[in-house]
Amino acid sequence: ESAALSRIGLAGLAVMGQNLALNIAEKGFPISVYNRTASKVDETVDRARNEGFLPLTGQYNPREFVLSIQRPRSVIILVKAGAPVDQTIAALSDHLEPGDCIIDGGNEWYENTERRISQVADKGLLYLGMGVSGGEDGARYGPSLMPGGSKTAYNNVHDILHKIAAQVDDGPCVTYIGEGGSGNFVKMVHNGIEYGDMQLISEAYDVLKHVGGLSNPELADIFAEWNSGELESFLIEITADIFKVKDEDGEGFLVDKVLDKTGMKGTGKWTVKQAADLSIAAPTIAGSLDCRYLSGLKEERENAATVLKKAGLSDGIDVSGVDKKRLIDDVRQALYASKICSYAQGMNLLKAKSNEKGWNLNLAELARIWKGGCIIRAVFLDRINKAYRRNPDLANLIVDPDFAIEMVQRESAWRRVVNLAVSAGISTTGMGGSLSYFDNYRRGRLPANLVQAQRDLFGAHTYERVDRPGSFHTEWTKLA
Ligand code: NAP
Repeated sequence: ESAALSRIGLAGLAVMGQNLALNIAEKGFPISVYNRTASKVDETVDRARNEGFLPLTGQYNPREFVLSIQRPRSVIILVKAGAPVDQTIAALSDHLEPGDCIIDGGNEWYENTERRISQVADKGLLYLGMGVSGGEDGARYGPSLMPGGSKTAYNNVHDILHKIAAQVDDGPCVTYIGEGGSGNFVKMVHNGIEYGDMQLISEAYDVLKHVGGLSNPELADIFAEWNSGELESFLIEITADIFKVKDEDGEGFLVDKVLDKTGMKGTGKWTVKQAADLSIAAPTIAGSLDCRYLSGLKEERENAATVLKKAGLSDGIDVSGVDKKRLIDDVRQALYASKICSYAQGMNLLKAKSNEKGWNLNLAELARIWKGGCIIRAVFLDRINKAYRRNPDLANLIVDPDFAIEMVQRESAWRRVVNLAVSAGISTTGMGGSLSYFDNYRRGRLPANLVQAQRDLFGAHTYERVDRPGSFHTEWTKLA
């Protein structure tokens, strides 16, 4: 005689696991939870009790845990990516039976997922690699979910995922992504796009602060105002909040006391590496990664500032004549146009990978499930969804008819901001990267003819001609 079995299990009860487990239990799905260290099981059980006796059962060893779940079993793993996932799979799979499924919800490298899919298949087990976005709050109150791998496994938990995901106007923020490691890959690119968004916002801040002379309260107001328009998004909203916070341990605002050195966990780097591997230009995303690296050189940067000041470098142009109101409006437009280009890069990376792997990714659906629950959630994603629904084979967001109009409308403001920043000595790696992406992409003819001529001169790499087909080589030096 056994107690009633749980509908699903979750192993790994750190920040993400605890909150996702409570979310699942709250939606009425009885859940068993397990963690290597027992204290986290107790913590989770306590929270479930305090939140109204949610149907959650704590388990203290892998066997009891697995046996407490109804078949075919679905077990979500939320432990540190890499070796801990392999160790957890090893501990659980001794007790799992054919037809059961493991769902890794961590930020895992997609190839690890593909390796594990075939590994567990030997035992008849199914596997999903599921990107989970939205941090702690997302996990608890509705994340964006990106499950990829076994379609059968997805169907087994489809009802649970639909209930626990963030809900937006056109449905829950979850969809079956595709086969293999596609769910992890999509989550990775989501994070790369997130890097780009954060960099662009930080540049808007830099320009408004150092060229416009805006104070923190003014910045808070501007970002709050932006959050009621085309830029409405989670990141703009939290940025407005950040500018409001006073330093509790001293004078002034906390944001000014935060060291200008960025941490990172690797998904941005993976995105940039993948873009390079697939020959996809992603200057905004790559630039945001570079800026994180440069931010890490705090001491070197301070030294460089001193050395160059001694060498005669001025503090940049006089910005006293700047029209503040116009600058604010220009920066808003520059931010929006830059964002379109950044998303174009991310979406094209997804498309290229999808083609390589045969994943058949639905870009419109991906934009839709990012509308809620995740860090990059934004009203703007609805426009991307519409663009890909209009044309699933769209070559680039820049040439979607609606986006094309929006970019052209913002073009001069965008150039003014980048110009002004360049003259003032403020780097706009993201905005400038987006603008140069735009200018490269929209020009029918680039100076690549010269690069190709050079390649032919020194390496006989040959060139094509604009006026007739074929492959040509010229003895350039002899003719010069
Ligand atoms: P985490 O700090 O990445 O990992 C801690 C958990 O991993 C603990 O439950 C720990 O168990 C377990 N663990 C570590 N090594 C283990 C091993 N060798 N064997 C078994 N268990 C092991 O936790 P997290 O922040 O909740 O993140 C979980 C996953 O979600 C990660 O892949 C993360 O990248 C991803 N993610 C996190 C966020 C976020 O906002 N934090 C957002 C999205 C995605 P013990 O308690 O026994 O040490």
